[in-house]
Amino acid sequence: QVRVRFAPSPTGFLHLGGLRTALYNYIFAKKYGGSFILRLEDTDQSRLVPGAADSIEDMLEWAGIPPDESPRQGGTVGPYLQSQRLDLYSQTAQQLVQSGHAYYCFCTSQRLELLKKEALRTGQTPRYDNRCRHLRPDQVQDKLAQGASHVIRFRLEVGVEPFQDLIFGWNRHEVAQVEGDPVVIKADGFPTYHLANIVDDHYMKISHVLRGSEWLISTSKHLLMYRALGWQPPAFGHLPLLMNKDGSKLSKRQGDIFIQSFQRDGILPEALLDITTNCGSGFSTNRIGRRIDELISEFNPSKITTHSALLDLEKLPEFNRIHLQQRIEDEEQCRLLVKDLQGQIQEVHTTEIQDKEVLHEDYIRRVLHLRKGHISSLKELVNPLYSYLWVRPSFSCQQVAALTAEAQHIASLMLRLIEERGEELSVDGLSKDLKNVAKQTKATKYREVMKLLRLALSGLEQGPSVAEMMVSLGPAEISHRFQKLLL
Ligand code: GLU
Repeated sequence: QVRVRFAPSPTGFLHLGGLRTALYNYIFAKKYGGSFILRLEDTDQSRLVPGAADSIEDMLEWAGIPPDESPRQGGTVGPYLQSQRLDLYSQTAQQLVQSGHAYYCFCTSQRLELLKKEALRTGQTPRYDNRCRHLRPDQVQDKLAQGASHVIRFRLEVGVEPFQDLIFGWNRHEVAQVEGDPVVIKADGFPTYHLANIVDDHYMKISHVLRGSEWLISTSKHLLMYRALGWQPPAFGHLPLLMNKDGSKLSKRQGDIFIQSFQRDGILPEALLDITTNCGSGFSTNRIGRRIDELISEFNPSKITTHSALLDLEKLPEFNRIHLQQRIEDEEQCRLLVKDLQGQIQEVHTTEIQDKEVLHEDYIRRVLHLRKGHISSLKELVNPLYSYLWVRPSFSCQQVAALTAEAQHIASLMLRLIEERGEELSVDGLSKDLKNVAKQTKATKYREVMKLLRLALSGLEQGPSVAEMMVSLGPAEISHRFQKLLL
């Protein structure tokens, strides 16, 4: 059975790189009828960021790729937080010590520091010299009995076997030749990433490890551990890295690649999934506008290439525009958008909205249908440019007095025309009507009149044409606003 996992450390919030790894795991699981597991690797207690753990799971749910098993969901192989599985890691470390694959190390941090300095001085890469490998059992017992601070290290063997990575093909890193024996249990009793990771993948019955390619060189080390424990390793597939468009490293410090900030900016999850798959690989085409079920059916792991995926964030508004249009066209989704926009309008225009009619579902839905394909985010509709839709203009006596009889006459004729016609308003139609009506009434200053009508409709001196505004406002609002000026 296919079981894959996304195993972020809650040392930061979810960003696009993480979302992409989660997404490929999710679609792989769903494609092959398997399960997608979220495991939080929180063993580096000093680097935990408050709120990150919860937020990661929230963001996966928001993105429409919810885990089947997770800290929140639970599952049969939990707990899904590493800090709650410490016994399992220390038992496994003991097993390794007993079989001679791991050993206690009592080297002080001063000694390790000296080793490092010495290596750097002689132009070598610093590595632990494996000194404690050679302690006699009685020496170890004595030190333990004295309560000496210690770590447990895994004994790296030479003779690594090659493994076939699902994406990078055959691979092999003779780790013992380049690294000192790695710590598996730290002085505070917590495991390091390498141990906790393989213990969990084993006990959580993970069938395929799909993770970022930065872990490719660690895999031989992991395989040595699997071998020492007599466990069957999962299959490995390393996903090429996500980079900026110019090939530079995707920086979390830019702050703008965090999923929460996209969410705040009105970006839809589908657009984010699109941008991460569009620049990557694993699909025969780069078609835009795929929903998650289409991503699953069109996904082909053999199409994942080894080159980095270059992220082109400039395409995001366009992707969002397409997905927003799709959502507006779907009745159920549109209802949610209406609610969302209602909330945003109220937030932005708290004090100015006097008439609840502009918050009516039907009115907002009409506006959405009219603007779909033109707007790339709901946020645009609460820009000042569109505020006339939600805030009815209020006139001072002076302004009303300034409205000419001509303008009032045209407004009343237009009202009658619109009432007669019913719902069908179009910019072209209304432009013609306005001209005809102006001709009929022998209006002398057409442009002046239009200015006044715009003012009556929106309170704006400048902006979209009167006909455009009328189409956006719809018959009921036009009538309300014109009527006020005809009183
Ligand atoms: N905690 C590791 C990370 O955040 C997981 C790596 C892996 O998937 O094995 O990158």
